[in-house]
Amino acid sequence: MDYFNYRGSDLYAEDVAVSEIAKAMGTPCYVYSKATLLRHFHAYADALTDIPHLVCFGMKANSNLAILEVLAEAGAGFDIVSVGELERVLAAGGDPAKVVFSGVGKQRHEMQRALEVGIHCFNVESLAELDQLNAVALDLGTVAPVSLRINPDVDPKTHPYISTGLNGSKFGIAHKDTLMAYRHAASLPGLNPIGIDCHIGSQLTDIAPLLEALDKLMELVASLKADGIALHHIDLGGGLGVPYQEETPPHPSEYMAAVKAKIADTGLTLVLEPGRSIAANAGIFVTEAILTKTNQDHHFVVVDGAMNDLIRPSLYGAWQNIIPVSTAPHDGQVEASFDVVGPVCESGDFLGKARTLRVGAGDLLAVRSAGAYGFVMASNYNTRPRAPEILVDGDQMHVIRERETLESLWALEHRVNR
Ligand SMILES: *Cc1c(COP(=O)(O)O)cnc(C)c1O
Repeated sequence: MDYFNYRGSDLYAEDVAVSEIAKAMGTPCYVYSKATLLRHFHAYADALTDIPHLVCFGMKANSNLAILEVLAEAGAGFDIVSVGELERVLAAGGDPAKVVFSGVGKQRHEMQRALEVGIHCFNVESLAELDQLNAVALDLGTVAPVSLRINPDVDPKTHPYISTGLNGSKFGIAHKDTLMAYRHAASLPGLNPIGIDCHIGSQLTDIAPLLEALDKLMELVASLKADGIALHHIDLGGGLGVPYQEETPPHPSEYMAAVKAKIADTGLTLVLEPGRSIAANAGIFVTEAILTKTNQDHHFVVVDGAMNDLIRPSLYGAWQNIIPVSTAPHDGQVEASFDVVGPVCESGDFLGKARTLRVGAGDLLAVRSAGAYGFVMASNYNTRPRAPEILVDGDQMHVIRERETLESLWALEHRVNR
């Protein structure tokens, strides 16, 4: 459930008309709902109040400072994948002690900074990284808390680009190497193994693979204990899907109930890294129709938003719902099955294909489920300034990122002849 609903013929974000936001901020723009964001975070956190837990927002999904601030105030930790994301957490007032650091290629300076500020845990993905982290920790005269990311080799049955837990993926440590890797970690004086983690993929619409991964991690925790290595937490990663179209992913509370039933008696802390399931449906991308055109029976609506703003349709063939900001009919509209395309010079530049819409030049359209992997993946391709981001809270709208200026796009460039 979210807070983007029609009142009469007009689409609202909470208590603000989306058309008013577009009028004030121009298009294209991203619009987020604070209440939706919090609702999705609490769907996890409130289901876990009776067991030790830490919900770390997978912030690569949406890393705007205001979004992080809202979640930090609600008690969230953060799953980061770079020192840049760590600095964002700090800039947003987040607690470094609630940060877990994921990623296959952490650099020395990133490890250093994370140790300095005292993060909760490094999610280590290889033996080589164990050695590098050990060396950095010893140089700083400290001990790094570590978890090993294990590839449980379960098939998440999602898009290959976002399947990450299979043997042969670049991520994690092979399941069969777990004991050896923990023994190695335990032997290094700069490391303290405290947890075990996995992240098997994204946009999962069935919890069975997640529960299978949990079973495998719990078995490993037991055999490590028998081997004298006692862990304190299991981190199941992120990955729960959202309804973009006809998908019916389980609600986070349903997922949590199943996880709790398995883990409650162990005393282990449960760590989670949900990104998409918290942010995706807390945002929309608003764009204006420039014109409609028909090429040999094929109808196009050319809008002012494009693949540089929202790349998921082009990159993954992702389907996101596209709805009118006003359903009131007016002259000059055409009703047809449209490809909704942007102005970028690529045939792959589309936001949606074969969408039945009634639309005319100047009409506003909203692309749903744009709060995750939307703005964060935007680029300046075709010298297009990145769109502004607006956070709605009740009847208030806050500009949480301004539209980029053209000059800023070449501010770091240097001509040779001047
Ligand atoms: C991307 C990612 C997440 C978040 O995934 P979602 O599918 O957005 O929930 C969590 N953990 C790791 C390690 C990731 O790479």
